[in-house]
Amino acid sequence: MSGDAGGRRPLISGNWKMNLDHLEAIHTMQDLNLRLQPADVSGIDVSIHPPFTDLRSVQTVVEKEDMPVALGAQNCFSEDAGAFTGEVSPTMLAKLHVQYVIVGHSERRHIFGEDDAMVAAKVAAVLRNGMTPICCVGETEDERDAGLTKDRLTAQVDAALGSVAPEAVGRSVVAYEPVWAIGTGRAASAEDAQEACSWIRGLVADRLGPDAAAGVRLQYGGSVNPDNTDALLRCPDVDGALVGGASLDASSFVDIMRAAALAKR
Ligand code: PEP
Repeated sequence: MSGDAGGRRPLISGNWKMNLDHLEAIHTMQDLNLRLQPADVSGIDVSIHPPFTDLRSVQTVVEKEDMPVALGAQNCFSEDAGAFTGEVSPTMLAKLHVQYVIVGHSERRHIFGEDDAMVAAKVAAVLRNGMTPICCVGETEDERDAGLTKDRLTAQVDAALGSVAPEAVGRSVVAYEPVWAIGTGRAASAEDAQEACSWIRGLVADRLGPDAAAGVRLQYGGSVNPDNTDALLRCPDVDGALVGGASLDASSFVDIMRAAALAKR
């Protein structure tokens, strides 16, 4: 398969989930900085999504060392301020120079009960605050076995992006993350990832027009590692990867970036 991305810049995102305290985060970022060579990120974008308590520390290292890495968050609330005890405001994230926010990760949907309406409100909040949403969609194993993958993707994409302006969708990111592949070591095949991403791009074209479809960046996520990155990133509709476990180790995350940069060259 060709690596033609229609001019879209690949995006490799590291989701640390609830791992690494702020001291470990500083150490990991320093390790990453020592390992990163310009060729590793040639032609690609990279974002790092630490826990909220690490953001300020990671921001400080990224900006002090002028690292070619954007700051990301794993979640945010849908309102900018107010009586929402325990929530984190998208406005406050933007003030910390956060550029990308993961929205609707399957762990948020399944463990914390986030529904499609909440995901849609968060996508709108991220865009309203000048950041880029990485909106996660994907089927469960039962849905896949029942042949419902495309129905599930259609419902989730329609709900999350249906009321977003086409121009904003064209600069957003959708991550196809089959739930059965997350944290299991069982990544989707390149063929399955391409089929799902092609379906999502087709949906965006149908609902929001060709410019939105040509611009939206589609990531694959689910057990991405240095060995499967090349095949996944060679898929024409896969514009990047959302990486969980393998992003916690600086060495393997750099290997993934390098493989992505080469695959999309
Ligand atoms: C994720 O956190 O979104 C993810 C895909 O995790 P992992 O790479 O560990 O499967």
